[in-house]
Amino acid sequence: MNITRPFGDTLALIGNTPIVRLAGPSAAAGCDIYGKCEFANPGSSVKDRAALWIIRDAEARGELLPGGTVVEGTAGNTGIGVALVANAKGYKTIIVMPDNQSKEKMDTLRALGAELVLVPPTKFADAGHFVHTSRRLAEETPGAVWANQFDNIANRRAHIEGTAPEIWEQLGGRVDGFTCAAGTGGTIAGVGLGLKAFDENIRIALTDPHGAALYNYYAHGELRAEGSSVAEGIGQGRITANLEGAPIDTQYRISDEEGLVWVERLLKEEGLCLGLSSGINVAGAVALGRELVAEGRPNPQVATILCDTGFRYLSTLYNAEWLAAKGLPVFDWLARNSASAEAVSA
Ligand code: PMP
Repeated sequence: MNITRPFGDTLALIGNTPIVRLAGPSAAAGCDIYGKCEFANPGSSVKDRAALWIIRDAEARGELLPGGTVVEGTAGNTGIGVALVANAKGYKTIIVMPDNQSKEKMDTLRALGAELVLVPPTKFADAGHFVHTSRRLAEETPGAVWANQFDNIANRRAHIEGTAPEIWEQLGGRVDGFTCAAGTGGTIAGVGLGLKAFDENIRIALTDPHGAALYNYYAHGELRAEGSSVAEGIGQGRITANLEGAPIDTQYRISDEEGLVWVERLLKEEGLCLGLSSGINVAGAVALGRELVAEGRPNPQVATILCDTGFRYLSTLYNAEWLAAKGLPVFDWLARNSASAEAVSA
């Protein structure tokens, strides 16, 4: 990254994110764990990359014309990326989102000028699922394209061409392992394919949350989900086009509680405020680091993704009442602050 020169345009701000050594996770793993700071993108998440690649691809194929509309079904972050890129290029945005996602994401999408369509959360097999609703809306809207992040492999190309070479270069051409969770699968598949092109011995691990089916698929060949998770943006039940041929060598299943330990520690000890998918990724990276150390790899370097900013979850992950209602542990300082707020209002 060259920050000494001005960028030519705002879209050049997407990608080329910093990578940082995480002290607590590195100590826990006994080797160097690095987090790729995707919250540093203009839309504060990893999904800006997919949005840019998908929109450029639709333009290159002649499907998206001046004044056109981009329609997408999303847990929120892709919509935010699409809205920003579309604004910068003069397109309109329609976003379909399940109504159980964080209020911050909904407020943000409206603030960015996207037209927001909320639908009840439902199974992928149901016609009313947010993905199918977004496809129908795209078909019905003149001049619209459907971004289709799950099955449009322009998504993973963003990581083959961008994220993977960045990690390789930032870690000095020595990477032992990479892991992250899958939503569309674009990040794990794209970074996995991109890194293996540099060195096929790099171990690529899927870190799956509870309630997703991919852990069992890669471990036992069967798409089967167990448990549940409150993490937004991750947890997949099928092999999307982006996941096809993903070079997954090993897999971990990480609970929300394990992910929250890292969300809490990274904030308290290292000053990083992140979402839960980042915490789950870091827990996976620690597991991968330990595995590589146990096998005797000298000083392994493991990278993972810090997917989005925690500011997007102030009403959920960083809210004592919300955490308690979900049966999740409440961070010490949140419990203290909400106790003193009650004392003030009493
Ligand atoms: N974390 C968050 C917060 C996300 O929004 C997403 C995207 N859905 C992911 C992780 C997973 O990324 P991908 O879609 O590339 O698998």
